[in-house]
Amino acid sequence: MPVRLVVTDMDNTLYSWVDYIVPAVEAMVDAVCRATGFPKIKVVQSLKQVYSRYESNEYPFALQESSLFSEFPDFASFDKLVIDPARAAFSQARRKYLRPYKGVVPALEGLKERGIPVVALTDAPRNPAEYRAKRMGLDRLLTALYTLPGFHFPSGSEGEKLVAPDILRREERGDYRASCPVVELPREYEKPNPAGMLQVCRESGVAPAETLVIGDSLRKDVGVARAVGAIDCWAEYGTYVSIEYRERLDIISAISVTRRHAASVYEADKAERDTATHALSSFAQVLEVVEESARASRKVAATRGS
Ligand SMILES: [Mg+2]
Repeated sequence: MPVRLVVTDMDNTLYSWVDYIVPAVEAMVDAVCRATGFPKIKVVQSLKQVYSRYESNEYPFALQESSLFSEFPDFASFDKLVIDPARAAFSQARRKYLRPYKGVVPALEGLKERGIPVVALTDAPRNPAEYRAKRMGLDRLLTALYTLPGFHFPSGSEGEKLVAPDILRREERGDYRASCPVVELPREYEKPNPAGMLQVCRESGVAPAETLVIGDSLRKDVGVARAVGAIDCWAEYGTYVSIEYRERLDIISAISVTRRHAASVYEADKAERDTATHALSSFAQVLEVVEESARASRKVAATRGS
């Protein structure tokens, strides 16, 4: 059957999550150490605790929710002295290292030209997933973005918002919103639960059998694709993480968090690779699989017609 819908994972499929999160969190930790004089181990431990609670090391309000904040008299001074430089350091690293893999943008444009919608389905929380799509301009190439639930703004014991005023203003202005529709799925829809994929197919009006699924995790992405009867493509290129980066990631990120974003980092059993129908060395190869299935279905139609 021809492909009429592409469902893509995001982290380590459209861009390297690992290559950006490692230097970005490290830069943030260094900035906090410089601002507070606290030892690195204290800062890392404290942040990791919050990250584990939210199962994400992109929880944007980790500092004010960490034990570090309790050592400051009020939010305004903590915001100015600690959070500001930390945010700046994180953003600078993100600007530098967060970019789509080579071939992703032309392939997404190619799919758009062919009239094939592309929907992103990620286990990341809404806010960072949406913001990343927007930053890289992927939102204009996606038909929709399906995420797990987003974060709310933290507040203090008196109910006051523990968020810098400029963030509140930007949120109100919609500066963090992507240009494509964004759907928040329930937390328990995390892959390999096929419920999210089935919802995407249903809302796109395309049967799973006519859907191509691409992702770097054999267990999550390939697993879900096979469970619903879609065409599975394993983004093998997204699983190549150097030992050095893996070690640096383990220092700043709890295993449960890494697993949520980049499950393939811990999928050591490459014997499972045989479960994938297509193993891709670049996202651009999605176009080849699309062409191949179009050719195959034309052939079937011709045979039937003769
Ligand atoms: Mg992934």
